Amino acid sequence: SQVAMYAAKQRTEDITVYKSELVTSTPDSLSLLSELRQAVINNELRVYLQPKVATADNQVVAAEALIRWQHPEKNLVPPFRFIPFAEQTGYIREITKWMIRSLASQWHALQTHDTPFRVSVNLSTRDLMTASFPTFLEETLAQYNVPASGLCLEITESAIMDDPNFAQRTLEKLSAMGFRLSIDDFGTGYSSLAYLKRLPVNELKVDQSFVFGMIENNSDRMIVQSTIDLAHNLGLDVVAEGVETGEMYQALGELGCEEAQGYFIGKPMPIDEFLAWRKEWNRSHGL
Ligand code: C2E
Ligand code: CA
Ligand code: CA
Ligand code: CA
Repeated sequence: SQVAMYAAKQRTEDITVYKSELVTSTPDSLSLLSELRQAVINNELRVYLQPKVATADNQVVAAEALIRWQHPEKNLVPPFRFIPFAEQTGYIREITKWMIRSLASQWHALQTHDTPFRVSVNLSTRDLMTASFPTFLEETLAQYNVPASGLCLEITESAIMDDPNFAQRTLEKLSAMGFRLSIDDFGTGYSSLAYLKRLPVNELKVDQSFVFGMIENNSDRMIVQSTIDLAHNLGLDVVAEGVETGEMYQALGELGCEEAQGYFIGKPMPIDEFLAWRKEWNRSHGL
């Protein structure tokens, strides 16, 4: 099931408390769903942005949008507390739409005059399986005058492998519309290379579990290196996530990884903080 998949995914990211929390909160899932609906109505969801930097010249070329829930009583609720439920119930489709509307309405404020700046959005398998989703995207972006090329759609390997043929048709539609497509958490799922070759994607994101280990662990380093080579041989760009140290950033640049994302560069931040962060980053890097 999706919950089991998600739990497995989180375990790889060392959030070991997750499984037991999920079990204890299951009886409340109906009330969680109604709380989530209320959260959208009450404007409690927040877009956080995490920078993606080009290793060649330190330019801030993109940001990934990551959702947070500013609950009135709890602190900031992280996505692993509600995204799996939203995926299970299908409510994720409303959350994705909320996210895309929010980004489209603020997209122009994020642009600088020099370099084009992209924003990545995480899609779930439910979005890919919704026939009206490409039309929703087209209409929403047109409403705010945002070009499709300004958005990157991140899709996990497992979301694609739920129904690879259907996913492929949707991705072909989205690619033809001009969206940049990225395969998220690459290396943690079981997507076959045959599918990878057929999909109209532009980039691979090396999963952070490999990046974390790449300095100390030779097999992790080999996985990162092979993924970068594989991606390049297929004509794809590579983004490394979970870049936590300068040593990792340096090593990834040497391996030819185009973009890096992680705490070494910047954490996910509210949009206004992100803009201030970018100014400071550009200043301190002479950009
Ligand atoms: P993801 O798409 O793989 O996002 C990367 C996660 O790694 C984010 O966690 C990010 O904050 C975290 N991260 C980034 N750099 C580092 C680092 O250097 N070290 C460490 N330890 N972690 C780092 P976050 O924001 O908690 O999101 C977790 C997951 O929730 C995401 O994984 C994604 O699968 C899902 N998610 C978040 N926002 C959305 C959304 O709007 N829609 C959907 N469908 N899923 C979302
Ligand atoms: Ca992602
Ligand atoms: Ca990821
Ligand atoms: Ca992940």
